[in-house]
Amino acid sequence: MNVLDKLKQWLPRQCHLCRITIKHDVTQNNAFHLWCASCVDRLKHTSSRCQRCGLPTLTPVPQCGQCLAHPPLWDKLYCITDYQAPLKQYIQALKYQKQFWLAADLSALLSPLIESPAPELIPVPLHWRRLLTRNFNQSEELAHHLAKQWQKQGVNCSVNHQAFRRTQATVQQKGLNKKERTRNVRHAFELRQVPLSKHIALIDDVVTTGSTLHPLCKALRRCGVETIDVYCLARTPEPK
Ligand SMILES: [Zn+2]
Ligand SMILES: [Zn+2]
Repeated sequence: MNVLDKLKQWLPRQCHLCRITIKHDVTQNNAFHLWCASCVDRLKHTSSRCQRCGLPTLTPVPQCGQCLAHPPLWDKLYCITDYQAPLKQYIQALKYQKQFWLAADLSALLSPLIESPAPELIPVPLHWRRLLTRNFNQSEELAHHLAKQWQKQGVNCSVNHQAFRRTQATVQQKGLNKKERTRNVRHAFELRQVPLSKHIALIDDVVTTGSTLHPLCKALRRCGVETIDVYCLARTPEPK
């Protein structure tokens, strides 16, 4: 940590959400730069979820009825909360306004929810054409911060950027129904490099139907990956 960072740590800051002044407190190890402790609580999930698909349930369950009937191709999905305010605004700012500095605090909300992180994180790739207009891939940014946070805790974890290539610039999934989404991404990815680990986590900002993740999961299973987790910031309810 350089002198400027140290100094910044000691200066009072303003919470980005409620605007109260956050004073430096030596007794509290605040991992967040943007928010005060009560706003951090507001941003985190409150409802019970299905551990498999991440959708809200009445009580926490390993698999909901929907997952038992039609299991997704991954094993567990971790998210901070539903795709709703105030988290939603931060995700949109990260993705569309290129406020990449938000990725550190957003991933710090997610990482404590994951009890045994996968040693290899694979961000969902963007097509080079979209990457060109957007300049950065938000999933890659999140994966990088998650790995950094776990490495600091002595956890073996790294990001694999090379595993997949997006071969088709598909139309945006937003606004499509489940069937259209599945068709849209069916041949959109190519596995370039077989992952080294048997336990992989796919990183995405928001998971809606999971149709983007399914072709990736299929390819990973085909090359012998045993456990696939999904780490995402938010989960939206499935569109009909
Ligand atoms: Zn606050
Ligand atoms: Zn479920």
